[in-house]
Amino acid sequence: MSLHSINPYTELEIASFEEDSSRLVEQKLEAAAVAFQSWRHSTFAERRSLMLQMAQHIRHNRDRMAVVLTQEMGKPILQSRGEVDRFADRCDYFATSSEELLAPERVELAGAEGWIRYEPLGVALGVMPWNFPFGQASRWAIPAVMAGNTALLKHASNVTLSALLMEEAFKAVGFPPGVFSCLLLSHQSLDPILSDRRIAAVSLTGSVAAGESIGAMAGRGLKKLVLELGGSDPFIVLSDANVEAAAKVAVRGRFLNNSGQACTASKRFIVCADVAAHFTECFIEATRKLLLGDPMADSTQIGPLAKQSAVGDLERCRDATVAAGGRVAYTADAPTGTGFFFPPTVLVGVRPDMPAATEETFGPLAAIIEVTTEQEAIRVANESDFGLGASLWTGDAEKGAALVAEIDAGMVAVNSLLLGDSRLPFGGVKRSGFGRELSAHGLRELTNIKSVNIRL
Ligand code: NAP
Repeated sequence: MSLHSINPYTELEIASFEEDSSRLVEQKLEAAAVAFQSWRHSTFAERRSLMLQMAQHIRHNRDRMAVVLTQEMGKPILQSRGEVDRFADRCDYFATSSEELLAPERVELAGAEGWIRYEPLGVALGVMPWNFPFGQASRWAIPAVMAGNTALLKHASNVTLSALLMEEAFKAVGFPPGVFSCLLLSHQSLDPILSDRRIAAVSLTGSVAAGESIGAMAGRGLKKLVLELGGSDPFIVLSDANVEAAAKVAVRGRFLNNSGQACTASKRFIVCADVAAHFTECFIEATRKLLLGDPMADSTQIGPLAKQSAVGDLERCRDATVAAGGRVAYTADAPTGTGFFFPPTVLVGVRPDMPAATEETFGPLAAIIEVTTEQEAIRVANESDFGLGASLWTGDAEKGAALVAEIDAGMVAVNSLLLGDSRLPFGGVKRSGFGRELSAHGLRELTNIKSVNIRL
C-alpha cells in the first residue's frame, strides 16, 4: 500500500510514499528501544537544550513548513503560519517547564520517607490526525520526549510530508537517532506494532471509529492508552448573554482551523428562544463575510476541506437534517473550479436528535438549536455521546462559573472559546476519549508514576 498527499485545492497528488516494509518497521522499533536505554538517563538540561534549539529550527523554517501544511491539508496559509508558531512555542514551553512539572514529590510517612517519582515509560507510539499536522502531533511528541521516552509517530496517511518535516526538525538539532522517528504506515498495518513488547504506550488522536479500533488493539497488547477523540461541542447562549459578542465568537468557534475541521470547534449552537432570532441574524451576517478561496492567498479565511470524502459526509448530514425537519437558513457560494469545498452553511430549527446535532460535523456546517429555559440548554448540551469542550455565554459570570459544574465535558469556557494553553490540560469524557494532553497532567500520562518508600 502507498500513502498519498493530495493538494485539496488543486486536487492533484503532490507526493506519494511506499509504506515502510516490515524490515524497516522492525529497524525503527529496535532503534527506538535501544535509544530509550540511554535517553531515559539524559538530564533535563540536555533535553531542554535540544528542544530549545528545535524551536529555533522551526522558526527558521517557518515559511517552508507552513506551505507544506497548506498544500497537504488545505489550511489557509495564515493559519498554517500560526500553527508552525505554536509548534515552536510548545517546544519552548515543555523545554523550560518539564523538569519542574516532573520533579519528584516528597510525602511524609510514619517512619519512612515517601516519594512520588515520574519516570519515562519506554517507546511511545503516537497515531495522529491530519487536521493539525504539526500542532496535534507535537502536543504528544514533545512532552513524550521531554519526559525521557522515545517516540514513534504514525501520522495520518495524507500528511506524510508534514510528518517528515517533524522528523527533520528533531534530527537537525541533534536529538540522538531513535529518539523520534516516523513510521510510514497506513492504519491497516498497526495491529502487530501495538502488540509489540517494545511499545510501552499508545496515544491516538482521531475519530471515534479509530479510537474503538486502537482501543481494542491496545487492550490486546495491554498498553497504556490515551485517546483524544472527536467532539460535538455545544456553544450555549443564555437569555442574558451579550448576543452580538457571542455570535461573533460563535462564528470563530464554528469555522476555526480552516472551516471547522477541529475537534473543539463549536458545533451545536444551543440558544435560548428569546434571543435566538437575533443570534441567528448576527451569526449569518458574520458568516457571510468569510472569504473562501485559494488557501495560499493571505486573504483567504476558508479553504477547501482536507479530503473529498469530507464534502460528501457534510452533504449527507445536511440533507438528512433537512429531511428530518431542519432548515437551511444560509449557505455561501462555493468557489468554482477545483477544490474540495463545502460552503459555510447555517441550519436552523435543528432538534437534538437530528444528524447535525448527534454527529460530529467536521466542517463548516453550523446547527442552531432553540431551547426555552437555561435548564433545557444544559440538558441538551449534555445530551450527546461526546464530552470534549463547551462554551457557555451569560451576562452573569458568577452564574456561568456555577453552571460549569453541570456540563459534561473535559473543558469549559465561559464567555470565551477554549484557549488551548499549554498550561491547561486538554481532553474529554464520554466518547471523546480519556487521558489528558498538555500541562502537568499530559506530561504525567507518559510516565511511570512510581511510589517509593524508604524506611528510615
Ligand atoms: P481518523 O480518520 O480517525 O485518523 C486519525 C489517525 O488514526 C490517523 O493516523 C489514521 O490513520 C488512524 N486511523 C484511522 N482509522 C483507524 C482505525 N480503524 N484503526 C486504527 N487507526 C486508525 O481521524 P482524522 O480524520 O485524521 O481526524 C479527525 C478526527 O480526529 C475527528 O474526529 C477529530 O475530532 C479528531 N481529533 C481529536 C482531537 C482531540 O484532541 N480530541 C484533536 C484533533 C482531532 P490513516 O490516515 O492511515 O487512516
